[in-house]
Amino acid sequence: MPALTIDQSNINTLIFDFDGTLAKLNIDFQEMRDAVMEVVLSYGISREEIHAHFILEMIDSAFGILFQRSETEARRFFYQTNAIIENIETRAALQGELFEHTKDLFTSLQSKEFSCGIITRNCTKAVQIVFPDILSYCPVVICRNDVKNVKPHPEHITLALAKLGASAPNTLMIGDHPIDIHTGRNAGTKTCGVLTGHCRKTDFIDAGADIILSRAADLLNIVK
Ligand SMILES: [Mg+2]
Repeated sequence: MPALTIDQSNINTLIFDFDGTLAKLNIDFQEMRDAVMEVVLSYGISREEIHAHFILEMIDSAFGILFQRSETEARRFFYQTNAIIENIETRAALQGELFEHTKDLFTSLQSKEFSCGIITRNCTKAVQIVFPDILSYCPVVICRNDVKNVKPHPEHITLALAKLGASAPNTLMIGDHPIDIHTGRNAGTKTCGVLTGHCRKTDFIDAGADIILSRAADLLNIVK
């Protein structure tokens, strides 16, 4: 692991993931996956036709198949499955909470004049439940609803960078899942894995993370 520190690498912008990085949410992804698959099957699409690992991509894949048949049917499917995932996300948000150091982290980063953004595959409603005053701490928050192509597609992070007037080589993407590392690498940022979600250090090494920290708040130990 290279001993990269933020002050050595011209990093002036930090983009954070939300769930597992800044907050604890415990979304039941298996329940979500099963409920979405049930709807997929009810539209006469087989499991074998869906070549996607993540739930949002499963929905996109089925939407594409249905769209060939009927745009109306495809849109109905989209709203139905999005209602299911939003319900599960909202329920998790009501029981979720910010990590203890999240607000202090943003306050300190603001005082050090870092530009900060948050990108998340979660919905706006769930994020606002967990962190109602989020915009007082972080000026740019891009949820699933705000972008056409969610991470790991680079559009998700490049939209945040455009809003901040920041550039990818001067940015560090921080997240608790290899998908966050892939997102940063796809967009050309430096990347940092944190161990506050369900992934291990080896997952981040395999994903090619530049830095691995125990928690996001430890960023303060490597910035001047
Ligand atoms: Mg996460």
